[in-house]
Amino acid sequence: MTPDRFQYDLFRVLALPIVLVLVWLLADSLKTDQRRRPVGLAFALFVLSTIGYITTNTLEICSTTEAASELWAKAIYLCVAFLPILWLQFSLRFTRKGRGLPSFLLGVVLFFPVTTLVILLVPSLEYLMWPTITWHSQGPFQVSVRTHGPWFYAYAAYTYSFFVAGAILVLRTLVLHRRYYRRQAGALILGIALPLLVSLLYVLRPFPGLIKDFSSFGYAGAALCFWYALYRRDLFALAPLARSLVVERMRDGIIVLDSGGFLADANAQGLAILGLGEGALGHRLPAALLPASLMEALETRSCRRFSTDGEGGQRHFSIEVLELGDDSEGILGVIHDETEARALLARVEELASRDELTGLANRRYFLESAQRELSRVLRHGGHLAVAMFDLDRFKNINDSRGHAAGDRVLREFGRILASEIRGEDVAGRMGGEEFALVISGAEGARSLCERIRERLASTRVECPPGEAFSVTVSVGLAWLEDGPASLDALLSRADEALSRAKAEGRNRVVAWK
Ligand code: GH3
Ligand code: MG
Ligand code: MG
Repeated sequence: MTPDRFQYDLFRVLALPIVLVLVWLLADSLKTDQRRRPVGLAFALFVLSTIGYITTNTLEICSTTEAASELWAKAIYLCVAFLPILWLQFSLRFTRKGRGLPSFLLGVVLFFPVTTLVILLVPSLEYLMWPTITWHSQGPFQVSVRTHGPWFYAYAAYTYSFFVAGAILVLRTLVLHRRYYRRQAGALILGIALPLLVSLLYVLRPFPGLIKDFSSFGYAGAALCFWYALYRRDLFALAPLARSLVVERMRDGIIVLDSGGFLADANAQGLAILGLGEGALGHRLPAALLPASLMEALETRSCRRFSTDGEGGQRHFSIEVLELGDDSEGILGVIHDETEARALLARVEELASRDELTGLANRRYFLESAQRELSRVLRHGGHLAVAMFDLDRFKNINDSRGHAAGDRVLREFGRILASEIRGEDVAGRMGGEEFALVISGAEGARSLCERIRERLASTRVECPPGEAFSVTVSVGLAWLEDGPASLDALLSRADEALSRAKAEGRNRVVAWK
């Protein structure tokens, strides 16, 4: 049958622009950071092979001698014979976390392309590929029409099975992760199907008039689809397995709402925090069942804190909401569990604010609390007094009975202070054997101080065992209304009064006047 010249001319005309497009795709792909695209090399090899395929195929049908045409027809296989293995290798690496074909299997599958090249290079074997070749002149060009021998079909079977096997692997993974890669999967399916369909037209000849093999254009179409998926849609920018694994394993909860407010995606942690199951995907969030501040964060695209009550008690979270896409195609909520961090912070605050020996407020925390109480009284009115306590001759106790006895006294006095004060009063250990008290109300301040002094004086401390002794305390007392209304001034007035109490013979309460 004389081949229809139009099909060949169409190929000759389209080849150059298609190659130019492929060169552009290649250049564009190389511009992108290859570290982000582990498949960059595979893509570049695929495009280069396709360029070689179209070029050799064009040279074949533009040859003016049979010998030249024959040579280019064989060169085609040099360009494409290894492509199915490249594709399978890539698919395996992508879907099996980096592991490709084991090397012994690689040796086995290389049998197909290598045998093909041997058959083409050894003239006496060529009939296995092409039993008959008829030549036709098209103007200056010599064009061959070939019948297909057994190896041609074996080669075709190798090509199709490897492409389909790779495609099944990749598509299975993409279907598993379809939530992330919907559009990309579409482009990939088209990219795999195109060359297969076009070459089937050639191999199976469903239209007898169609003689010319356009498979190489199918490959070019595939290159375009892959380029779109890889470089325009970020497929494999990070392999989906790795990405979903990271998202799934993360301790933070992730939720994604589309622009319609439907739950498009969530990791297991996100669903667990919200108390939802997989079935919630694709539906609106049950706002009535969720904390109000969580819904508020999603609505206003902002950060909020919220708490949930679960089996293990109350848990505390923060949510940060980010817009997805340029046209606000959806929102991403990152939910961070703050329960442990908060408990830890409370414990650290507790440790940082308490005096270890007596359990009272330490100096820093006492001053903070005292300032708060003073500000409150200054704002709302009321009375307030400050008392300073200093144990009498405390050094003697340490010296004669040991440090442990001194500590016992300090703890005992701390207990007395804590048991005598009321709700708003603040007691603290200022350092050494000095204590301070903020007394709100103030009318009973003097009697309170007296009571404390008396209780200490009447307490018998036994340390070391069998040797009981008692201690006294001197107290300086100052009222807010007696002078400048700052905490510093109050404390120094109380201190002054305390010095007087010491000077007047200790074991007494002296008020500043
Ligand atoms: P005064 O009646 O004038 O207050 O005499 P004092 O001995 O109490 O006065 P001074 O301030 O000279 O002595 C305070 C002593 O308190 C000195 C120090 O050894 C002792 N001290 C300070 N902190 C602690 C503590 O945490 N434990 C014990 N056991 N002793 C302490
Ligand atoms: Mg002292
Ligand atoms: Mg003292």
